[in-house]
Amino acid sequence: MPIVEIPAFTDNIIWGLQDGDHLLVVDPGEAAPVMRHLEREGLLLCGILITHHHADHVGGIGDLLAMAPLASLDIPIYGPSACLPHGVNTVVQEGDVVEFESMDIRLSVFAVPGHTEDHIAYFGFASDATPRLFCGDTLFAAGCGRLLGGTAAQLHSSLQRLAQLPPETVIYCAHEYTLGNLLFASHAHPGHEGIQTRLSEVRARRQEGRSTLPTLLSTERATNPFLWAANVSEFASIRAAKDVFRAP
Ligand SMILES: [Zn+2]
Repeated sequence: MPIVEIPAFTDNIIWGLQDGDHLLVVDPGEAAPVMRHLEREGLLLCGILITHHHADHVGGIGDLLAMAPLASLDIPIYGPSACLPHGVNTVVQEGDVVEFESMDIRLSVFAVPGHTEDHIAYFGFASDATPRLFCGDTLFAAGCGRLLGGTAAQLHSSLQRLAQLPPETVIYCAHEYTLGNLLFASHAHPGHEGIQTRLSEVRARRQEGRSTLPTLLSTERATNPFLWAANVSEFASIRAAKDVFRAP
């Protein structure tokens, strides 16, 4: 099943899962790019998955419902309870399973607090045997989300849990932050060969205006310092160092 990257704002990514007729989107922070995609591809919107309540993830829901060609009048909008005021109509939490049978999509909901208290992720399969993770602002390529509501202990534990998923898991994060994250990783771990190699590759891709996403969990385990923290205080200090880091 094609999973397409729909760019929004300056560095957000709205992930779209589509068959020939339907589109399911993750975190539509704005409606216009999704509308253009639907029109260009002749698709009907059949559902929305939300990871957390930030405006750049939920802000497009209302306009999409008002303007998009919909598969039905009551398409499901899954998300945490804190997102009910933003248009979520089907609250999901840890242990729930989200299914779109006609598209052969089956995703389990994980509670992954830290970036926010309410953050969830969707992990599972979409029409093939490849494990896929839609993780919003929890795990980024070579980085992780800031603490904007949750605690370092929560985010550390959420990232450790995600790190245990199968190494071949494809990771769909909600922002193109990879280059900045690798500049920090390279600063924090000078001389780390894997980070240097990835930094060169990512720099080249960005210079050509190309995306660096999705990423693979195996790549993150090898080059994402936020997954290496042995305990909460180590994690809190690397998160704090990144918060004030300015690339040279
Ligand atoms: Zn966020």
